[in-house]
Amino acid sequence: MDPQDFADVLAAVRAFVREQVIPREEEIEETDAIPDDLRRAARDMGLFGYALPQEYGGLGLSLSEEVRLAFELGYASPAFRSMFGTSNGIAGQVLVNAGSEEQKREWLPRLASGEVVGAFALTEAEAGSDPSTLTTRAVKDGDEYVIDGAKRFITNAPEADVFMVFARTGGPGSRGISTFLVSKDAPGLKVGPPDAKMGHRGAHTAEVFFDGVRVPASAMVGPEGTGFRTAMASLAHGRLSIAAVCVGLAQRILDEAVAYAKERTQGGRKIGEYQLVQALIADSQAELYAGRSMVLEAARAYDAGEDTKLGPSCAKYFCSEMVGRVADRAVQVFGGMGYMRGVPVERFYRDVRLFRIYEGTSQIQQLVIGRHLLR
Ligand SMILES: Cc1cc2nc3c(=O)[nH]c(=O)nc-3n(C[C@H](O)[C@H](O)[C@H](O)COP(=O)(O)OP(=O)(O)OC[C@H]3O[C@@H](n4cnc5c(N)ncnc54)[C@H](O)[C@@H]3O)c2cc1C
Repeated sequence: MDPQDFADVLAAVRAFVREQVIPREEEIEETDAIPDDLRRAARDMGLFGYALPQEYGGLGLSLSEEVRLAFELGYASPAFRSMFGTSNGIAGQVLVNAGSEEQKREWLPRLASGEVVGAFALTEAEAGSDPSTLTTRAVKDGDEYVIDGAKRFITNAPEADVFMVFARTGGPGSRGISTFLVSKDAPGLKVGPPDAKMGHRGAHTAEVFFDGVRVPASAMVGPEGTGFRTAMASLAHGRLSIAAVCVGLAQRILDEAVAYAKERTQGGRKIGEYQLVQALIADSQAELYAGRSMVLEAARAYDAGEDTKLGPSCAKYFCSEMVGRVADRAVQVFGGMGYMRGVPVERFYRDVRLFRIYEGTSQIQQLVIGRHLLR
């Protein structure tokens, strides 16, 4: 994107997040929903398609631009960004990377405008960290495929219009998996009730059941047997986005802690004057600085085609662990208040726990990094 145009987008999103979204965070928490007016405003700002190509109606941001945007989006309740994160990220990138021209023309403009919502359906009850063992099957029947199986923890499933479904079309292992585009209206597809989660209220996950769901052969995304590779490519992109959201949220949490330390008094002094409180803040600032630098460098290397795997895993691993430590220290700075509902750092403490789990746990990132170096 033209640098001036991108600077304008960043400034608009920054103002919107700080002036419109943050004041509504408690409402999002209480109602477990993103207010319609915020959803409409996000659509009008093009946020449903920031990472989708311009020729299909998106903003076409490079990953280096996308992570800067995610720093801003991460500054508020993560459910807000999650509303359009999957369409831009793990679901949308499946089509960007592997979709046919026809599939892209049919779905990307509608995803980018927010008219439809996408979901990425990989995880199953017995196949989470190792999705190569998934058992959802797609069996060819004439010029159709019949899908049977179940997925779980699928973000946006209750709201999704289209699912990127990974199903087994061949033998065991990663090479037997293919990707399918499945509409929510396909007979036999059922979405379970929203999961009761620890945090991220306002963003929803659910199980998705496939009972003899028929799709035309043209619903396959990419060649047969390439589903695992497609999923991994989407996840690598998504890992950098998540890392950037962690940096944005860590900044917010640290700002909350610093503001409190400047205002709260104990023993006749501001608690920020106590050096042990300063240490909590300093450790968070140093780690946040490292995380931000790492994300920017990993995004640069990704855009340059130098590294699409190691950097995203390092950044996701470090930043998701980092924001957990930053949230933990912020609760400490707040003392008893940090343990009370209604205080943002208490909510963020619960929210940030997810980042170490989804899109590959910390242990899986360690394995990716270790294997890459020892290959
Ligand atoms: C809120 C939320 C949203 C999600 N959204 C989506 C989505 O949109 N789409 C989707 O497909 N999935 C989604 N997921 C699923 C998520 O990606 C998985 O939960 C995650 O990959 C871990 O899989 P699991 O839950 O089966 O845990 P398991 O794989 O059972 O892992 C349990 C523990 O064992 C460890 N472990 C597993 N294998 C190894 C190993 N080989 N070496 C070392 N340690 C190991 C893990 O690190 C973890 O600590 C979501 C999950 C949540 C909670």
